[in-house]
This record gives sequence, C-alpha cells and structure tokens, in this order.
Amino acid sequence: MTTYTSEIERPALIIRNAKWIVILGVIFSAIFCGCTTNPYTERSQLLLISENHEMKLGAQAYQQVLNDPNTKISTNPAETEPVQRVANRVIEAAKKSKYAQTAQKFNWEVSVIKDDKTKNAFALPGGKIAIYTGIFPMAKTEDGLAAIMGHEVVHALARHGAERMSHKLGAQAVLTGTQIALKGSDVGASNSRAIMQALGLGVEVGLILPYSREHESEADYVGLILAAQAGYDPRESVRVWQRMQQAGGQRPPEFMSTHPSHGTRINQLQRWMPEALQYYERAPKAPPTPDLPSF
Ligand SMILES: [Zn+2]
Repeated sequence: MTTYTSEIERPALIIRNAKWIVILGVIFSAIFCGCTTNPYTERSQLLLISENHEMKLGAQAYQQVLNDPNTKISTNPAETEPVQRVANRVIEAAKKSKYAQTAQKFNWEVSVIKDDKTKNAFALPGGKIAIYTGIFPMAKTEDGLAAIMGHEVVHALARHGAERMSHKLGAQAVLTGTQIALKGSDVGASNSRAIMQALGLGVEVGLILPYSREHESEADYVGLILAAQAGYDPRESVRVWQRMQQAGGQRPPEFMSTHPSHGTRINQLQRWMPEALQYYERAPKAPPTPDLPSF
C-alpha cells in the first residue's frame, strides 16, 4: 500500500518539521561550503567566507579605525618600540606555528593607538594589530604584552571572525527557509511570529553565543603557546588577567568586557601552563627589557 500526504496535510507537516529545516540548513551549508578543523584544538569550524574576502574586510575595518579623527596614532618610541618588538617575535612564531600558511599570507601591520584610558587591543583578519596605550599597565612587561597580543593574533589566525560571520549567514539562511515554509501553512500570523522568535532565539543561544566562548578559550590556549614559542614567559599571562580583574569596578577594562568569563580563564591558563612552559623552555628567549610605560 502506498502512503501519501494530501495537499491539505502538507503545510502542517512542514510546521512540525521546522526544527529539521534548521538542522538540515546547517548540515547543507557545512557540506556545500567550507568546513575546517582547528589545528591545535581539533575543533570543527564552519567557514562560509573565503580567506581573501575576510582579509579584505579586516584591512577595511583597520583603515576605518586608523582614519577615525578620534584615533591618535602614537609615534613615541617609548610606546611603539616595545609593541613592535613583541609583534615581530609573535609574528615570527606564528609563521613557524601550525598556522604558518595563514601567517605567511597575512599583510601584518601593527599600530599603537595613543589612548591611555582605553585598556584594549585587537587583531583583525589579515594580521592588522592595534594596541591601545591604556592596556600597558595591564600588560606591565613585554611578556605580558605578548600574552595579550598572542591571544588577539590567534583570533585572526584561527579565523574566528569569519566563523562568527558564517554562523550569522547560516542562521539567516535557515530562518529565511523557515519563513518560506511557514508562509505556505495555515497557522495564524501570531503563531508564525512566535515560531520564528523561538527559532531565532534558539539559533542565537545555541549556535552563536557558545562559539564565542569557545573562541575565547581557543585564543587563550593557542595564544599562550604562541607567546611561549615567541620566547615570552607564559606565566605572565596569569598576572595580566589578575591585573585586569583588579582594574574592574567602576570602569572595567574594555578588553575584559569583550572577553567574558575571566573567572575560569585563570584556572584554564594554569591547567595549560605545563605544556606552554615546555614550548618556552625550547624557545630562544626574548632579551630582558624595562617595564612598559605606566600612566
Ligand atoms: Zn578574545
């Protein structure tokens, strides 16, 4: 006997299977577009954006920041030289790391932004690094600066930005698919909206947010190794986070507000420390330097 679904029943079937549309959408995007594995953590990554396109976006965003009339680029050697020194060693280490291929491709650029109040730093796709002078007291030493820079550079090397964009694109695609499916159904407009809201929330919480936390852990872990390979004492990273925590309160450091869960991150860093110290022992050490300028 042949079973079949009548024309009238079909829309209801689509509603029941809305969840499956979401799941299938994600599976299809993963199959037809890029899926890669992080070489350090073996975490699988969905990447729907090409590396070249991502690098172009990174360079554009970087120019926007640098060209902003409120941005003051430091030319003070006391501020620029330590940053350049650390960047040179971290970039060299990256070029010999498991990210060597990507690191070689990047058009690396480092800027120091003169802003003593902003405790922040970032690295954009393509290797565009910016360090705000306000983060110097948090970093305190070049070892500390290497911990911060290592973390930021890994976000760029591991293509975390492209991954976030890919999740947004994937989420949009499946939501559009569900919207089309709901349009052909007999559910009322308010029910349709409720389903869309629930799905939107599910995609947001289930897909986008947890990955951000994973990105942070991954950047902490690989950044710790990268700084150690560059010849900087990885133990300084723990002190950096402690200083960040102490600087909290009325105006917590920007770096911390964009980098959540600092409570567990110190524990994690300590857990990874024996491995990082092995890399540090093997690496040619960075020569001793005075502390960074303090304000
Ligand atoms: Zn981060």
